[in-house]
Amino acid sequence: MQHKNFKNIDKVTYGRGSFSQLSETIAPIRNENNKYFVFVIDNYFKNKSLNYNALPEDVVYFIDVDPHEPTTQQIDALRDEVLAKKGLPSGIVGIGGGSIMDIAKALSLMFTNEGSSTLYQGLNLIKKKGIYHLGVPTISGTGAEVSMTAVLTGPEKKLGLKCDWTVFNQVILDPELIASVPNDWWFYTGMDTYIHCIESHNGIRNNAFSLAYGNQSLQLCREVYLYEGAGQNSENDDKLMVASLMGGLSLTYSEVGVCHALSYGLSKILGTRHCYANCIIFQHLEDIYAEGVNEFKQMLQKHAIVLPKNLSKNWDENTLRKMAEVSYNLPFMWNHAFGENYKEIATINYIESLFKRL
Ligand code: NAD
Ligand code: ZN
Repeated sequence: MQHKNFKNIDKVTYGRGSFSQLSETIAPIRNENNKYFVFVIDNYFKNKSLNYNALPEDVVYFIDVDPHEPTTQQIDALRDEVLAKKGLPSGIVGIGGGSIMDIAKALSLMFTNEGSSTLYQGLNLIKKKGIYHLGVPTISGTGAEVSMTAVLTGPEKKLGLKCDWTVFNQVILDPELIASVPNDWWFYTGMDTYIHCIESHNGIRNNAFSLAYGNQSLQLCREVYLYEGAGQNSENDDKLMVASLMGGLSLTYSEVGVCHALSYGLSKILGTRHCYANCIIFQHLEDIYAEGVNEFKQMLQKHAIVLPKNLSKNWDENTLRKMAEVSYNLPFMWNHAFGENYKEIATINYIESLFKRL
């Protein structure tokens, strides 16, 4: 068996108000390449008093992530525009949620790798190291701040640019930044972490390393979403930021499972957003993740979150088949969840039957 050799984030700043250290953190990098920084910032912050301190030479993009998750086309176009305007930047700063984190990570790589990002969707296809990249999460749960992938939707596949160079050089975790997240997104994105841990635990790739991160992350998730004192407040925001990071580390040393395999199918074919898709699916996986789903339902109830059901009655056979095919083509997730004989269990027909539960 090949053991994972994971590249972690080079540096992490954590704490309330730590965002104010952004300028001094990137100052030493400013001498590199064409001596300017690119900022990609979630559009939510456009007219807010977010003090990111860009210099006049820097290029700042506010990006609306709501119409769709990051696409290969979007990355290619941004890369071409920036390079044509000012040449190779010193570095890139991403300030936002999983979508912005992935845009920053993908751009960092695509500034130095020629051609379309569609060429690099997969594991270790990137040829050259990217430029310095720094992530500042403003919504917690996806683990994108720590993961070695930048998930992009392309014409053919929804798949990440995945390699050691994808991992951020630096992240700044400032819990003050997540205070404004709307309650429903606070729930869906936070539950991505919870589901990462449940899936990481329940499968053949779990080990003491992934369990240790996952157990700690689950404990924090329970404090934030379930136990007495649960809810969206500053003390819980401090915890949720750490839970997201640790959940990401747990799955990195293990693997995600059935919910994520189905989620990719749903997102690729119907455009449903990652964390929301996970929640819609996870409620129906009681036979696979009994305890996790039971606890998830308690959290739904506690926060009065109502998820849609009976969606599949509007899906024709063709749609179901296409979703099942996307999911089927994630064998490492099925293998982790169901073990050596996974091919006998996770057939296209079985996967379709799971989609019919939705
Ligand atoms: P997101 O970045 O898509 O943002 C969700 C919503 O929250 C948006 O409307 C955004 O404007 C808003 N928002 C963000 N921060 C806010 C704040 N502080 N206040 C108010 N509103 C705020 O959310 P996400 O769930 O973090 O990310 C989902 C994306 O992450 C998907 O594209 C998915 O594919 C990707 N993802 C990546 C990885 C990875 O390892 N790279 C893992 C899981 C998911
Ligand atoms: Zn996820």
